[in-house]
Amino acid sequence: MELFELSIKQAGEKLKSKEVSSVELTTAALARLEAIEPKVKAFLHVSADGALARAGEADKRLANGGGPPLLGVPIAVKDNICAVGMPTTCASKILGDFVPPYNATVVEALNRDGAVIVGKTNLDEFAMGSSTENSAKQITANPWDTGRVPGGSSGGSAACVAAGQAIAALGSDTGGSIRQPASFCGIVGLKPTYGLVSRYGLVAFASSLDQIGPLTKDVTDSAILLQAIAGRDPADSTSIDYQSPDYTAALDREIKGLRFGLPKELFGAGFQPGVRDLINQTIALIEKLGGQVSEVSLPTLEYALPAYYIIAPAEASSNLARFDGVRYGRRSVGPTDMVDSYMRTRAEGFGPEVKRRIMLGTYALSAGYYEAYYGQAQKVRTLIIQDFKQAFDRFDVLISPTTPTTAFPIGAKTGDPLEMYLSDICTIPANLAGIPAISIPVGLADGLPVGLQIMGKHFDEATVLGAARAIEAEVSFTDRPNTL
Ligand code: GLN
Repeated sequence: MELFELSIKQAGEKLKSKEVSSVELTTAALARLEAIEPKVKAFLHVSADGALARAGEADKRLANGGGPPLLGVPIAVKDNICAVGMPTTCASKILGDFVPPYNATVVEALNRDGAVIVGKTNLDEFAMGSSTENSAKQITANPWDTGRVPGGSSGGSAACVAAGQAIAALGSDTGGSIRQPASFCGIVGLKPTYGLVSRYGLVAFASSLDQIGPLTKDVTDSAILLQAIAGRDPADSTSIDYQSPDYTAALDREIKGLRFGLPKELFGAGFQPGVRDLINQTIALIEKLGGQVSEVSLPTLEYALPAYYIIAPAEASSNLARFDGVRYGRRSVGPTDMVDSYMRTRAEGFGPEVKRRIMLGTYALSAGYYEAYYGQAQKVRTLIIQDFKQAFDRFDVLISPTTPTTAFPIGAKTGDPLEMYLSDICTIPANLAGIPAISIPVGLADGLPVGLQIMGKHFDEATVLGAARAIEAEVSFTDRPNTL
């Protein structure tokens, strides 16, 4: 096994036993990163010197008797999360070469634990999209088939982990942006409960939905990385004072007797036959392990997508008002006056999808339409939360495919925004309800990975991860991308 193929856990064992040093591991990851990058284009910024310096520090800590599980492990960070010394662009022209003067709380956590941040990964501009094609910088390819998208918006983070360019990565998920690319790239992606992980230093898209979470090679790594970033942060008033259990200890569980609900609204017609087949096979495996699977109906999920596409753009239109060329990033040249400067900066700086969201959101929030659109969508959101509450009275977890299809060809959906929005039909409900949800690979359909989504009760990441680990062990998905 090559060093770049290691998981966090395996790398940690080798580092602690001194079989390998962090400098060696980081050098291997960086070599892999450079070798594969022309094909995959996952990174917007690579911090090779910084990473090697951090690796040297990690080796000193290791020599003094070790430390946390992330110590000395190369990790990538989505480029909408602020890290000192590296640009944060959100893959937008409007941020120019903005370098944040502070770290996101999750980056502080990585630094505290001695992780080695190797660089910043590509995304759909401001995390708006499902394919990473909305990046103003470059198009990231899926390591399984470089003619296809890696999913989005955390496409760079998913692709780089699948391709072995980093051992794990952080992404953000507002409507599926961790789980959908994880599914397309054959890796594990977890969106934590809203409020479990601090959003301080994450460039806001839709503040009531955004969460940061791990993209990893397996479920064990997901638990390790979640443990490092979870926790109350005084700098984010929506983060909750919740004492996390030991997530890795929760992995070792049987699923005998565990009740799995299968929402029929998330497994209907329109799903690719290969996806349906693999999910059905996985359900059979769950039953073989003693899990009880039954169908359940959450009727309001039918309205999740339309509600999301009012709420998320409404919040985005407000959040993105701060990009005016005055305080951050780039400013248009030679404006006639202040208003002209605002208008030209925003017209030149934002890409078409971001402009579409700002217009949708501004309209939905405007006087006279507010109640009809935003107010109505918030009511639907409440009904969805109630539907989940009722379902969780009867079930421990809910399962579905993560996405209706496998990774689609680059360019296949760029002409039709609505078609692109439909990629998130299974992932959006968890964001609206604020519940945790993970995607794990369960096999290949026509050579491309398929993900199973497992959703749980608020703050019940332990059960979600435990069920995921039991299924992962049984499925034993060991295929590797063609680019490797
Ligand atoms: N694809 C969805 C959107 O475009 C979700 C994005 C996300 O989770 N950041 O809004």
